[in-house]
Amino acid sequence: MQGKEAVALLACGLVAAAAQAAEFFSGSSALDFTKQMVAFGPRPSGSPALKKTQDYLLAQLKTRGCEIVRDEFTAQTPLGPVRMVNIIARFKGTSGRAVAISGHYETKKLPGVNFVGANDGGASAGFLLEMARVLAGSKLHNDVYLVWFDGEEAFGPWSATDGIYGSRHLAERWSSEGALGRIKALINVDMIGDKDLGILQELNSSSGLRRLVWQTAAQLGLGRFFLNLGGAVEDDHVPFLRRGVQAVDLIDFDYGPNNSWWHTERDTIDKLSAESFQVVGTVLLEVLRKLE
Ligand SMILES: [Zn+2]
Repeated sequence: MQGKEAVALLACGLVAAAAQAAEFFSGSSALDFTKQMVAFGPRPSGSPALKKTQDYLLAQLKTRGCEIVRDEFTAQTPLGPVRMVNIIARFKGTSGRAVAISGHYETKKLPGVNFVGANDGGASAGFLLEMARVLAGSKLHNDVYLVWFDGEEAFGPWSATDGIYGSRHLAERWSSEGALGRIKALINVDMIGDKDLGILQELNSSSGLRRLVWQTAAQLGLGRFFLNLGGAVEDDHVPFLRRGVQAVDLIDFDYGPNNSWWHTERDTIDKLSAESFQVVGTVLLEVLRKLE
């Protein structure tokens, strides 16, 4: 019972915060979207389960009134060529500028392990789908791109050429199309569903944008979920940073005791909570408003 009361109290605090910023972002809806995709099982790049995930994402997005791009390409991996697909949803604003919110939706290929990636690959994909639901009913100043990256995970040891395939591809594509100059900010989310949410101050990120997120969280009374701890993580924001885009990575990189659930079969849906999605969604919608 004590646990239930704690959840109810937390929910009340969040509702108060949500009233100022993001009235309609629902953490439980984000968790539900995540559940649907986790149910497809392990979802590595090029797998039939990831194709099902793509179909599910596209079917959901078709109801949201956004422009949808399937950005398909062949990645050269240590295991040979792999077909990959980024999914991009564009919600149109009026300013001529754009903000991107991104995350990966595939799971790491771990042969012999039933790795369903609820937090790592699932949470970011479900979070973005809930964001799409909210944005579909919003009047926007800037365009908002929601991007589901394929191929974030490395096939062998992480290296400059193995990992973040989808974001490297899209940063290059947007650069050659002349679209990068329109992007005011890119906010990447990864592993943000953990019940025990603690977001790292990721040190590759643009410091001004990172400060904006931390200040906004503090103003909303949600500062305790955004840590004072710093650490550098290579993630899907990096290819955009390298091309001069302001970008931040929001990642909880402490999952289970000593991060021991990360990349294991213990990364399951019971480790996630609606409240954690609610915290990140509430903060990001307010950050979007401030970036107008
Ligand atoms: Zn991972």
